[in-house]
Amino acid sequence: MTRYVFITGGVVSSLGKGIASAALGALLQARGYTVRLRKLDPYLNVDPGTMSPYQHGEVYVTEDGAETDLDLGHYERFTGVAATQADNATTGRIYSQVIARERRGDYLGATVQVIPHVTDAIKEAIVADSGGSDFVLVEIGGTVGDIESLPFLEAIRQLGNELGPERAMFVHVTLLPYIPAAGELKTKPTQHSVKELLNVGIQPDVLLCRADRPLPEGERRKIALFCNVRQEAVIPALDVDTIYAVPLTYHQEGLDREVLRHFGLPFEREPDLKRWEKIVNITRVPEGEVTIAIVGKYTNLKDAYKSLAEALAHGGIANRVRVNLDWMDSQVFEEPDAVQKLEDVNGILVPGGFGERGTEGKIAAARFARERKVPYFGICFGMQMAVIEAARNLAGIEGASSTEFGPCKAPIVGLLTEWTRGNIVERRSEMVDKGGTMRLGAYACEVLPESLVAQIYGTHRISERHRHRYEVNINYKDALERVGLLFSGMSPDGSLPEIVEIPGHPWFVGVQFHPELKSKPFDPHPLFTSFIRAAIAQARLV
Ligand code: GLN
Repeated sequence: MTRYVFITGGVVSSLGKGIASAALGALLQARGYTVRLRKLDPYLNVDPGTMSPYQHGEVYVTEDGAETDLDLGHYERFTGVAATQADNATTGRIYSQVIARERRGDYLGATVQVIPHVTDAIKEAIVADSGGSDFVLVEIGGTVGDIESLPFLEAIRQLGNELGPERAMFVHVTLLPYIPAAGELKTKPTQHSVKELLNVGIQPDVLLCRADRPLPEGERRKIALFCNVRQEAVIPALDVDTIYAVPLTYHQEGLDREVLRHFGLPFEREPDLKRWEKIVNITRVPEGEVTIAIVGKYTNLKDAYKSLAEALAHGGIANRVRVNLDWMDSQVFEEPDAVQKLEDVNGILVPGGFGERGTEGKIAAARFARERKVPYFGICFGMQMAVIEAARNLAGIEGASSTEFGPCKAPIVGLLTEWTRGNIVERRSEMVDKGGTMRLGAYACEVLPESLVAQIYGTHRISERHRHRYEVNINYKDALERVGLLFSGMSPDGSLPEIVEIPGHPWFVGVQFHPELKSKPFDPHPLFTSFIRAAIAQARLV
């Protein structure tokens, strides 16, 4: 029997609802249950793929090639369960389905309305393909009271009623702000937020109250009284120093216990949380530290590189060191001599990116790493820039660039016009829609035996997730290999360069895919583990 936990948020956004949901998933797993996590996003984009990282943060890509909300990354990192397209629905996606059905005539002459047609489509999305898990945790994006959220709240209200309390429950995440003048945590915004929920017919069963300091028992009683929630189900959720401590602290405060109690499931036995204790211990008491420069475009919005920052932290956990991230805007390196700023770092990472702005700075950073033998990790765009750098400065190819920035003399990186996915040939041209048309999701890659990456992965056939429109031009392979760039990973049909490396350099790897998407704190990605190990070796040299 699948049980549904609906997680809503109130008072303000950015309360860490995604991490709270992911942590609850991890706690239920630690008690032996299977879980699946889903996110419903109330915006009109069909998916976040077309949104600027400044608007939305990172676009997380699933195995099956869906471009999704970054919270799905938290879900995967905390539970290890691979998310799919079915796990993220937006208003845009739901409405496109409803309108497509209307055009086909599926509604048999009915007037198509938000209730019941849109809410039915939302309910279908919530229960579809849940894979028979014991629990499906459904996070509703946005904040209660937003106009956009209403159809979603109505749909979960209906589902709650249809499934009954034995199969559905509501968790509401709120904020208790501290007012210095009064010297106390204020409960009124939480009371108002619950009132908003009651207005749409939802009585929360558990309140997860975010606060920056302990919640006095008297205040907890007050919240319980005014919000109609049992006192033990008013859970204080204090800020923590590392997100991986969240499962431990929410467990101490009784979150998983209250969820199980709601469903009449046994909760007396303690869950096995050793995995999380170990991660938190290493994070809190590292044996050393390294500094990695991230040379990118969206460096003042950390959410734009969420999975990347986490994967680097995982690489640190694997090596028992703290990884300090030095976010650097690549445009800085377009000034002469600015690369000096990279003197003190132990590794340089150029992440994924789009568009021409700042690319010369990325190329300069790759050159510095290559010439000065600093560990270099180029991911997607970062690989493309490293190959252009080698083409210009090692192979002397004049006008080496990417057609992403317009026509050029030597298209070292060019538009990906044809590739195969299983037996299906995918074709693209300049003319296609922007949304959902990149090379997306998991693809296999053959790794050259004897290469550094073969050693790192310990296997010759790997699979990684992609999200790009351009590729390194195979026609330049021979010229580049002659000057020392090894194409060490190729698509199985040999047509698409997937990995390059520089033999003889301490650690210089560029990958066309996004390994950061698959890294987990309890299962760090081998490339990140190896990159951080190389950074440690570099730190010992300086
Ligand atoms: N802009 C590049 C492309 O589309 C790289 C994309 C990325 O880094 N994800 O190929």
